[in-house]
Amino acid sequence: MPRNYDIAELRRLDIAHHLPAQADWQEIENLGGSRIITHAEGCYIHDGDGNRILDGMAGLWCVNVGYGRDELADVAAEQMRELPYYNSFFKTANPPTVLLAHKIAGLTQNRLPHVFFNSSGSEANDTVFRLVRQYWKLKGEPKRKVFISRWNAYHGSTVAGVSLGGMKAMHPIGDLPIPGVEHVRQPYQFNEGRDMTPEAFGTACAEAIEAKILEVGPENVAAFIGEPVQGAGGVIIPPANYWPQVEAICRKYGILLICDEVICGFGRTGNMWGHETMGVKPDMIAMAKGLSSGYLPISAVAVSDEIIKVMKTGGDFVHGYTYSGHPVSAAVALRNIEIMEREGLVDKVRNETGPYLAKALASLDDHPLVGETRSVGLLGAVEIVADKATGARFGGAEGTAGPLVRDICIANGLMVRGIRDSIVMCPPLIISTAQIDELVGIIRKSLDKAEPLLR
Ligand code: PLP
Repeated sequence: MPRNYDIAELRRLDIAHHLPAQADWQEIENLGGSRIITHAEGCYIHDGDGNRILDGMAGLWCVNVGYGRDELADVAAEQMRELPYYNSFFKTANPPTVLLAHKIAGLTQNRLPHVFFNSSGSEANDTVFRLVRQYWKLKGEPKRKVFISRWNAYHGSTVAGVSLGGMKAMHPIGDLPIPGVEHVRQPYQFNEGRDMTPEAFGTACAEAIEAKILEVGPENVAAFIGEPVQGAGGVIIPPANYWPQVEAICRKYGILLICDEVICGFGRTGNMWGHETMGVKPDMIAMAKGLSSGYLPISAVAVSDEIIKVMKTGGDFVHGYTYSGHPVSAAVALRNIEIMEREGLVDKVRNETGPYLAKALASLDDHPLVGETRSVGLLGAVEIVADKATGARFGGAEGTAGPLVRDICIANGLMVRGIRDSIVMCPPLIISTAQIDELVGIIRKSLDKAEPLLR
């Protein structure tokens, strides 16, 4: 049972001392403090005001096995008693970390058999950044420094993560991006290619990458990095021909292909990896979130043999974190993967709940505010429009409808995210079909309520 907290006091202390992430602190103060989440079970979170909320976001795209898994708590406690911490700096390793590296290698069918650990998705992408540039130096092509990424991509909140990311609103804070990152258009057909066939649009977006390579000079380009499906950008699902063309372009110019699997990994799209769903074979992947279902912070970068062979010619890779290979996080991640395998969660998403979500979302297509619904696996979005025929947004500009509908959804008992004029969802992989009906039912009710407020 949850503890008996003094919620009013916690909210007072929250305002006085706590700076929440990615937030307008003045707005939170004006609201009287943050919503205090006190406990959770299965697919539901509970707040200090007594609300039980269906977690359509799996926390922050991460609680894949759902809340309240005693065995994850137990394995953490066991590992803490046996070896709560040791580092991997002193030519040292620990059992759960080595076993987890082996497990991850197997999950890539040994295509990416070498694994470097970090604590967060952002740190994983910092590792990617340094690994890639060092690889090219050691390979005798030191001019290859440029990363190509997409506008509206999200690769984290560190300096390298924000720079690789294409979130324009994030760039001014800290005067980013750092030099050597180039952004190209995203494959967001609803916004940028409604007049084209998916094939023509996919090709146009892939060709933008080739054009950028030629502009920068192929001899200067180190890597292309992308999320198989852009998550925080608004669940942007590219046309089927996009990723294979991106891969072909990377191969043509000898450029490394990197997939940021921080959201898409661990079954989210109906396969273990998002790149499998998209039909490509990257040289390196970053993963986090679903690796431990968010129970403890841990991330990893899995790398091809070819790259690590070159890296091994370079002496020390002078990079790493205090918590690289944290034994407790690794033990929890291992057990989390075991749960996913035991419960067949990836197959369940591919064969049952993913298709069910797609159908349930499609039932919203007749709603006057809905311009498009889309999903892959258990990653979905609803585009909100003022005019279904033209796709025109409310207020003539982007950005008003998503947060409004999100707030109504939360008040109605569903946590979703509002991204510009869409709401997006990413529920735990254990969600049942009845809970998907509940989720979509709350979205419809919330759209109904939003309509007179928006018009
Ligand atoms: N990459 C992707 C695709 C993400 O969605 C995120 C976080 O949402 C990150 C990287 C950054 O991960 P973290 O917040 O753990 O640093």
